[in-house]
Amino acid sequence: MSGVRDLFDSFKKDAEGCISRVEIAARLQQAGITPDDPRIRDAWASIEGPEVDSGRVSLTQFASLCERNGRLMARAITGELIIPDFPSLIADITEIYERLLPERGGAVADYIPQLKRVPPDQLAISVCTVDGQRFSIGDTGVGFCVQSVCKPINYCLTLEEHGADVVHRHVGREPSGLGFNELTVNGKGLPHNPMINSGAIMSCALIQPSLDVADRFDYVAETWRRLAAGSPVGFNNSVYLSERHTADRNFALGYFMREHGAFPKDTELIETVEFYFQCCSVELDASGLASVASTLANGGTVPLSGERVFSTDSVQKCLSLMSSCGMYDYSGEFAFSIGLPAKSGVSGALMLVIPQVMGISIWSPRLDALGNSVRGIEFCKELVKKYNFHVYDSLVASEQEGKRDPRLKRNQTAIEGTMRLLWSASKGDVDGVRTVLASGVAASSADYDGRTALHLAASEGHLAVVSHLLEHGVDVRATDRWGGTPLSDAEHAGHTAVVEALKPLTGGLVSVPDAGKKGA
Ligand code: GLU
Repeated sequence: MSGVRDLFDSFKKDAEGCISRVEIAARLQQAGITPDDPRIRDAWASIEGPEVDSGRVSLTQFASLCERNGRLMARAITGELIIPDFPSLIADITEIYERLLPERGGAVADYIPQLKRVPPDQLAISVCTVDGQRFSIGDTGVGFCVQSVCKPINYCLTLEEHGADVVHRHVGREPSGLGFNELTVNGKGLPHNPMINSGAIMSCALIQPSLDVADRFDYVAETWRRLAAGSPVGFNNSVYLSERHTADRNFALGYFMREHGAFPKDTELIETVEFYFQCCSVELDASGLASVASTLANGGTVPLSGERVFSTDSVQKCLSLMSSCGMYDYSGEFAFSIGLPAKSGVSGALMLVIPQVMGISIWSPRLDALGNSVRGIEFCKELVKKYNFHVYDSLVASEQEGKRDPRLKRNQTAIEGTMRLLWSASKGDVDGVRTVLASGVAASSADYDGRTALHLAASEGHLAVVSHLLEHGVDVRATDRWGGTPLSDAEHAGHTAVVEALKPLTGGLVSVPDAGKKGA
């Protein structure tokens, strides 16, 4: 109860000792948690009922609200969720969204009328973190068919059902280096990977083959529903009919694979290819797709419901193939410049996964020559310019390139850098000081008392550190909040060698520290 009490006490109380429901909602909203979040919706409704007078919440009511959702409330209120500064993330995503809006490049897919008719300039972006923090902007309520974005989900289903050994007796895991619907198989007569059409048709052959067609589709649709955690999931029948009507290439792929003996025994070819079209015709909106992406980011457990849909093992394999094969003939370039697993589809949908952080969906129907959403790709480029999300960003000093880590609390990087510098200086650790400065921390950085590395090195008499800092052009006249300078600190502590090093640079001026200065 004491944890809850502390949380409760962090809100302003009225004369009766109650707190405001509006304020709780605002604090949660600030953290990216909305009252319609499936994890708190019911509990929230219980403090919203007519019996609750004037929006005031008592300690008992607050405790029951916290009880029902594990540690979510506590972590949200204390800023401990994966993206602690969620408003900054919202501001960044909004800025990218606005920058993308005027972009009119590319054209909608026109191989079926249902896609050709989609208003081309729509744009929706939706984020869901592994802690279920959510933000959506643009045409977020508009449904779109998933098309090729069904491929990773179907692949996960096959892994869950059969295990990787069996699945990969029927489908490879190498990029094909060819178009997504190319009439080709690998050296073993198998489709190259599950992210291209032939491989996705193979996944369909492997999903619940003993069930009848209707039940197989129900099984897939139900999986999407669980992944979307309450966002509507539908089926676009006209897309399905149109796909089936213009399906020569996909049927050809099916026959070609059958000729090579790639399918499991007893596979019904026509039924399987039609099942693939049905999977492509599943429809949802950007926030639903963000929940799906966040589940992959979260290793197979849906952040918004806590339900495990896929094993971490299946997700790990799926993300590996999304990284190498998920973006049509742009996959290699995408892995090089964006460095994240993603899958796009000809409807203009793009599902981007930032493992252990968040899933993002971008939907914008105009496609580039390779079949990827123009704005979708642009979004990914802008995102990794801002954040150190590229899988290998951790190898480079991302701070120097202006990239940020949104997993850190506001100012955490700057605070930690300064503390490391001050700590090394006070211990006389020249190598430590050198390393911190090399990571981009400014030599004159000061703590909240205005104490710099030079103050600390001077008051401890670490001449080597003082000299090193001087070489880096530190501010010799920096004054702490008691009026002390590095020189006055060195004199006060009787470090003559340091005094000799500093004096010529300060013109001999020694500030007189305030009487109230701590006992340095
Ligand atoms: N239904 C489309 C096809 O198989 C999917 C294309 C895609 O999104 O890549 O041709």
